[in-house]
Amino acid sequence: MDLFKVYPLLDVALEKGKGAFVFDTKGQRYLDFYGGHAVISIGHAHPHYLKLLSEQLEKLVFYSNSVHLEIQQTLAEKLGRLADYPSYNLFLVNSGAEANENALKLASFYNNRKKVIAFKGAFHGRTAAAVAVTDNPKIKPAINPDDHVIFLPFNNKEALKNTFKEQGDEICAVIIEAIQGVNGIYEADNSFLQKIQELCQQYNAIFIADEVQCGYARTGKFFAHQFANVQPDIITTAKGMGNGFPVAGVLINEKIQAVYGMLGTTFGGSPLACAAALAVLDVIESENLIEHSKAMGQYLLDNLKDIKGLKQIRGKGLILGLEFDYLIKDLRNNLLFKHQIFTGNSNNANTLRVLPSLAIQTSEIDLFLDALNKETK
Ligand code: PLP
Repeated sequence: MDLFKVYPLLDVALEKGKGAFVFDTKGQRYLDFYGGHAVISIGHAHPHYLKLLSEQLEKLVFYSNSVHLEIQQTLAEKLGRLADYPSYNLFLVNSGAEANENALKLASFYNNRKKVIAFKGAFHGRTAAAVAVTDNPKIKPAINPDDHVIFLPFNNKEALKNTFKEQGDEICAVIIEAIQGVNGIYEADNSFLQKIQELCQQYNAIFIADEVQCGYARTGKFFAHQFANVQPDIITTAKGMGNGFPVAGVLINEKIQAVYGMLGTTFGGSPLACAAALAVLDVIESENLIEHSKAMGQYLLDNLKDIKGLKQIRGKGLILGLEFDYLIKDLRNNLLFKHQIFTGNSNNANTLRVLPSLAIQTSEIDLFLDALNKETK
C-alpha cells in the first residue's frame, strides 16, 4: 500500500528531535523554526515531557470517558489557572478541527440557531462544521455546505455591525482567530474583538476564539485574544497543547450547560494525552515560557530591522509573519536546503511564517538571522 498524497513533500526524512533541532536519517541537524505548524511548544524531547509520558505509559494509556480519570481534572485545573479561565469547563478532544467542530455544535445547541459569522482568510480545520467556516473553496467538498456561513472582511466593524443589525436574531456564533495563522499572520484589532464580544452579548450569539495556532503561550499572553481584554464564550486549543501528542481542548463558559449525550468522544482526554498536556503546562510555568516567548519575539523584531526586502512584520511573540517584497518560495527552500532551517509558508506567497518552539534561545535565533542575512543581502 502507498500513502494517500495530502501535501507536496519537502525532500527531507526526519528521524528525531532534541530541543530546537530535528535530525534527518543521515544525522544532518536542522533548526526547527516552524515546529511542524506551531505544534512543538516546549521543544523536542523535553526531559519533563518524556518523564511524564513514560510514567503514564506504564500506568494507564487509555480508558473510556465513562469512568473518573483523575489526570483530566488535574489538567483542567492547571489549564484554567494558567490561562486565567478558572470558571470555564473543559472538553478534551484530539485535534484543532475537532475542537472547532464541537465549539460550533455547542453554540448551536445553546441558542438553537445555525448562521455563523466567519472571516475572509480564516482557517478553522477540515471537518464538516470547521471547514464550512474556513475561507477556502478548494478544500470544501459538496458534502460540507457552507450556505449557513457569512464571511465578512477581517477587522471591518461596520460590516459586522450591519450583519448583526439585519440578521442578529439568527446568528448562532462568530468564530475568529485573534491572529490568522494559515492566512499569513494577520492580527485582529483589539477594538474588533471587543465589538464581536459586545454584539454577541447583545444578540445572544456565541463568541468563539480559535486559539489553535496563535494560543498557548505563543504571543506573550496565554491566549492571543487576551490582549484585547475580551472573554470569548468558547475558546479552542490544539497544536502546542501536547507538543506533538494529539490533544485539543474546548474551553466553555459556564453559562453553556452540559447535557449528557450532547458531546462525546472515545479517545479525547486519554490519560496519555493528559500527561502530555500536563507536561507542557508544567514547562510553560516552570520555564516562564509566556514571558520568554515575548522576549524572544522582541529579540527577533529588533534584529530583523535591517533585512533587505522585508516589507512588513506581523504578529506577536513567536508567531510572526515576515512579508517580503518578493515571493518567498526560493528563500524558504534556501533556508532549508542551504542552511538547514525549517520555516513555514502561508496563503500569502510573500510571507514567511516563523513559529519556533516557545523555549527557543537567542543563540538559536541567531542561526536563523545569520542565514536570513546571507540569503537576502
Ligand atoms: N484552527 C486553526 C487556527 C489552525 O491553524 C488549524 C490548523 O492549522 C486548525 C484549526 C485545524 O487544526 P487540526 O489540523 O489539528 O485539525
